[in-house]
Amino acid sequence: MVCRLLVGKLVDILAAKTVGIPEKILEKSFTGITTDTRNLEPGQLFLALRGEKFDGHNYAALAVEKGALTVIAEATNASQLEGLPLIQVENTLKAYQQIARWWRDQFQIPVIAVTGSVGKTTTKELIAAVLSTKGTVLKTQANYNNEIGVPKTLLELTPDHDYAVIEMAMRGSGQIAELTEIANPTVGVITNVGTAHIGLLGSTEAIAKAKCELLAHMSNNGVAVLNHDNQRLIDTAAQVWQGQTLTYGLEGGDVQGQLIAPEILKVEGMEFPIPLPGRHNALNYLAALAIGKLLGVDWETLRNGLNVELPPGRSQRYELPNDVVILDETYNAGVESMVAALEMLAQTPGKRHIAVLGAMKELGTQSGELHQQVGQKVEQLNLDGLRILVDESDPEAEAIATGVTSVPVESFCDSNPLVEHLLEFVQPGDRLLFKASHSVGLDQVVKQFKAGF
Ligand code: ATP
Ligand code: MG
Repeated sequence: MVCRLLVGKLVDILAAKTVGIPEKILEKSFTGITTDTRNLEPGQLFLALRGEKFDGHNYAALAVEKGALTVIAEATNASQLEGLPLIQVENTLKAYQQIARWWRDQFQIPVIAVTGSVGKTTTKELIAAVLSTKGTVLKTQANYNNEIGVPKTLLELTPDHDYAVIEMAMRGSGQIAELTEIANPTVGVITNVGTAHIGLLGSTEAIAKAKCELLAHMSNNGVAVLNHDNQRLIDTAAQVWQGQTLTYGLEGGDVQGQLIAPEILKVEGMEFPIPLPGRHNALNYLAALAIGKLLGVDWETLRNGLNVELPPGRSQRYELPNDVVILDETYNAGVESMVAALEMLAQTPGKRHIAVLGAMKELGTQSGELHQQVGQKVEQLNLDGLRILVDESDPEAEAIATGVTSVPVESFCDSNPLVEHLLEFVQPGDRLLFKASHSVGLDQVVKQFKAGF
């Protein structure tokens, strides 16, 4: 946490009331704002957030004991806060967001917001890697992509940064609008509109509208960078955005790429190695190239390739003994990413291609149909085996097998027998894809399989 200001200046920005703060503290500069006493360093401010399972106000006294100059707190909870130096606000989360927006506005740098149904983190990492060839980049860490994570990230901005790349996630309408107001991006990237969270939003139209809140709430001088190959996205964006737009795609667009080999992208006559495997990552990389072009990165510097490492469970490749390769996609799954990952498996040269899949969550009434679509893809790619983990809480995973006739399928109700089976079944030269929603726990299956192999 890097935002530094005079305490008194912060009080003015928030138009807040102060209680028990000595004058000399108001004239002191704080060294950051933290919401977690475990990371608190003396000289920082502590902001007490209230969640479903926790209340930061309960830690206010501890924060002051650990050296917090003051506590930003809601006016209630008098007993927990008695005698503490307080900046009182109506809603601490709103205050956190307001401070982040103010801080962000102190920097005249490109701020690139990335949203979409899938590929946000990957695209964010690729954009950050491209921009790092030209300057210093602040980017979203871990999963800090929501109403708390976006302000947290923005508060890390320092005068050393030349760019900020901010991931924005949503689970309902109105959330991307809120995050856009906080980050005030100059460039808005939407990777695609798919079916992730359709159980919460009801329809693909509603999802498209929710993603396009990024454009509707972006300043008119901003630039929209959109996936040309996603027609619903392009149509919905046109309804809310009349400003500058740059599209990218493998099928068309202002920045159009051609996959001349699985790992080589040809764009405007130049060839680029793609930092991550799979057609979907070629598309994600095109978004990064488009941003590079927009912000004046010399594409020449990218021709030798970029080193991009994703957080665990996304496009991770493990090479085991006997030429067995695992593609670990256990971080998450929706129908679009399942299809993309299955294609990536099929394109990985090897002897047999085996998919180990589990349920995709939060798909509501369309769940059965979407799981069947995954099975159809397995069938269409003519894989050599399909294994499904169907535990009691994910009976919907069973629907993947519906309609799979030519690919041998086996289902397992528990991860232990699945691991045992795989250890016996896998042969030299095999390629295995593991993918499901995170809560299915396939990451543990991968771990046990690797340990036992
Ligand atoms: P989350 O909503 O969990 O933050 P995300 O949008 O950040 O997800 P990533 O973590 O980048 O997405 O990727 C998740 C998975 O989606 C990847 O492991 C990959 O299988 C798939 N994926 C990534 N990019 C695309 C794409 N452009 N099209 C389809 N699938 C993709
Ligand atoms: Mg993400």
